[in-house]
Amino acid sequence: MRLNVIGSSPAWPNPGSAHSGYMLEANGSRLLLDCGPGVLGRLRESELWPQVDGIAITHWHLDHWGDLVPWVWGSYYLSTNGPLPRPQLWVQPGGAAFLAELGGALGFPDMFEKTFVLDEYEPDTPFQVGPLTVIATKVPHYRLRTYAFRVEGDGRSLAYSGDSAPSDELVSCAKDADLFVCEATLLRGELDGEPRGHLSLEEAVDAYEASGARRLLVTHRPCELPTPDEYELAYDGLELDV
Ligand SMILES: [Zn+2]
Repeated sequence: MRLNVIGSSPAWPNPGSAHSGYMLEANGSRLLLDCGPGVLGRLRESELWPQVDGIAITHWHLDHWGDLVPWVWGSYYLSTNGPLPRPQLWVQPGGAAFLAELGGALGFPDMFEKTFVLDEYEPDTPFQVGPLTVIATKVPHYRLRTYAFRVEGDGRSLAYSGDSAPSDELVSCAKDADLFVCEATLLRGELDGEPRGHLSLEEAVDAYEASGARRLLVTHRPCELPTPDEYELAYDGLELDV
C-alpha cells in the first residue's frame, strides 16, 4: 500500500498547501481519504481528471470535503466528451441527505449523486474499496459527528485520525497499525475548546505510543507551530510505502 499526501494543511491553509487529502493505492486501486479545498487542483497536476475508485470523508468541516463541489462542476463539464467514471463516495450516516440538501441550496439537488456513487458507511463496520478494507471509528471532535479511518490492504494497515480530540477510540483505531497519520493542530491541549476537538503534538505522540503503531506521520499542523523533532511531518507531495 502506498500513501501520497495530496494536502496536509489544518483548517486554514499553510502557505501554498492544500487542505486534507490522502491518496492510498494498492494493487491498482485508489482511495482518497478526505477531499479538502486545493486537493482536486493538486490531483490534476499529475492527471487531467483524477481516476479514483473511492473517496471517504471523515466529517463535514469544509477543510475535509470542500473540493467535492468543484469535482461535480468539472465532471459536468468534462462529461460532454462522454460519461466519466463515478467514484464511490463514502460518507457518514445521514451524509446522503446532507449532500442532497446542500445540492438543493446550490441549485442542483442531484449534483452529488450524479457525480458519485453515494454510500454511507456504518461505524465499526468494514467497507471495501477494491482490495482495501476501511473501518470508520467515531471519535470526539467538538460537537460534530466525526470519524477516524483504518485502512487495511496488501497485508498492511494505515490509521488516519481525521480530526480528533484525545480519546480511547482514536487509540484503538490505530492499534498496531503500520502507519498512523495523526493530526496535531494545537500548540497545547488546554488551548482547545470545550468539548475538546483537536490534539497537540504531545497528545498525538501519546495516542501513537498507546496504540502500538509502528510509525507516526504528523499532519494537519499549522506552520506557525513548532515542527516535531523526533517524528515525521507530512507535507503536500510526500509519498511513502506503508
Ligand atoms: Zn474538523
